[in-house]
Amino acid sequence: MKDSTELIQFKGNFNQVNDKAVEMLNPPIYSGSTVVFDNYEDLSMANAGKYQGVCYGTDRLPTQRAFEEALNCLEGSTLTRAFQSGINAIQHALMAFTRAGDHILVVDNVYGPTARFCSKILSRYHIETTYVPSNIGADIENFIRSNTRLIFLESPGSNTFEIQDIPAITKLARSKDIITMLDNTWATPIYLKPLELDVDISIQSVTKYISGHSDLLMGAVSVNSIYAEQFDEYYRTMEIYASAHDSYLALRGLKTLGVRLKQHQQSALTIAQWLQTQDHVAQVIHPALAEHPQHSLWQRDFKGASGLFAFTLRAEITEQQIGQFIDSLQLFAVGYSWGGFKSLITAGKYRRNTASHYADTIIIRLNIGLEDYDDLITDLKQGFSLFKP
Ligand SMILES: *Cc1c(COP(=O)(O)O)cnc(C)c1O
Repeated sequence: MKDSTELIQFKGNFNQVNDKAVEMLNPPIYSGSTVVFDNYEDLSMANAGKYQGVCYGTDRLPTQRAFEEALNCLEGSTLTRAFQSGINAIQHALMAFTRAGDHILVVDNVYGPTARFCSKILSRYHIETTYVPSNIGADIENFIRSNTRLIFLESPGSNTFEIQDIPAITKLARSKDIITMLDNTWATPIYLKPLELDVDISIQSVTKYISGHSDLLMGAVSVNSIYAEQFDEYYRTMEIYASAHDSYLALRGLKTLGVRLKQHQQSALTIAQWLQTQDHVAQVIHPALAEHPQHSLWQRDFKGASGLFAFTLRAEITEQQIGQFIDSLQLFAVGYSWGGFKSLITAGKYRRNTASHYADTIIIRLNIGLEDYDDLITDLKQGFSLFKP
């Protein structure tokens, strides 16, 4: 055999050494396109769409399947599928369950790009979106039409943190055969299990807490038994897949999700309570604080609070001063996304389609990371010292 052939023929499979299987604690990373069949019969089965094994790289390779199954157990769903990003997961979930002529309801505190997708893309396919108030409950009935197919919730919203009355909405939706979806990125399935509240589909930006280290983009859609088959067929038809390396990292992230969230929760709540005592602070917006307008809903439905919350400063503090405050911080990096080990800060105005009392207020959002909270408070304190009393 010539060198060139020998190199191609070489099989680098060392998952068995001296007849002993090499069994790792963590699953191997299966990545690539071609999956080799045993024989012609298996190929024929695959051609006929009847092969029971994995046919191809887009057919959910084992590392992706391992991640999906782990999250599926946590969400208590029938089927979980992974996506290249959170927004990708949201877009596909919306497309899988709508068709021309449908009307959908979307809460107004929804992740910005979700609203943009509904307004700019779904509208092209004659799917009409109505935005409903972010603190909606049973009164969602007033917005339902004969062609309302789907309700999309995000609770709490990741900028303004309003909470919806999920059981009141799902009770109504079930009675009218309307699908409910919930972006569960803030709570993760550790602190909220939407399917237990009769939400049909729970969506995660895995990019945030689940992966937890700001080193990948990924999303997931977890579906109950009513809609699992329909979503499975959509996913297979679209030949969506997630990166094997990212699936591996996300699976690793899941192992420490519980302990990380405990720390995020404790640090964020401590800092939120400290902020409430500060003269320059107008309002602290955190669902676990008694002052939050939907605190009782949070207490009833959620098992905990994660590390993302917001606050506003007194009206006399100018935007320029807010900028100086943010730039003075040493431990908070300025950047999008959240759920990772590093504390981050963003600020902006959140104008919405329905009335919002935050419309003209700059909301400062903190992602509390895994630093010691005393150091984070010291940093915020030196930032506030820029403001004259
Ligand atoms: C970040 C985020 C998304 C989108 O996730 P990506 O993985 O960044 O695309 C969706 N929903 C919420 C609430 C988010 O914060």
